[in-house]
This record gives sequence, C-alpha cells and structure tokens, in this order.
Amino acid sequence: MEWIIKGITSTATKGYDGAKADASRADKSIKYCPDCKQCYEIDNERYDYYHFYENFPRYGKEVKKCRMCE
Ligand SMILES: [Zn+2]
Repeated sequence: MEWIIKGITSTATKGYDGAKADASRADKSIKYCPDCKQCYEIDNERYDYYHFYENFPRYGKEVKKCRMCE
C-alpha cells in the first residue's frame, strides 16, 4: 500500500504548487467583468484572446467589462 500513498501525495503537492503560481499571476492581469460575472485575463501576446475563469474569486480584481460586454 505504501507506494500508492506516496503517489497520491506527490500528485497533491504538484497540484498545490500549480494553484499557487496561478494565484500570483492573477493579481497582475486578471479583471472582473460585471456583466458576465466572470474573471478574465487578456492574453499578453494576443490582445484579442481572452481567458475566462469561472468561479474565480473577484476580490481585489479590477472591475472592467470584457470586450464581449462593452
Ligand atoms: Zn463580460
């Protein structure tokens, strides 16, 4: 059973690090659209490309309508 427990633990740790990286990145460029009630991010390299984040915490985010709602 031991190898199974190790496997689960390493996967969980990896997932946590990924979430942490996303959160710090979010502070800079993620905005909240009050019309579609979603957080979104404009791709830095392609300004016509939006990433939408469902159920992303809007707290602290700049409120700005996305291109679809403007
Ligand atoms: Zn919108």
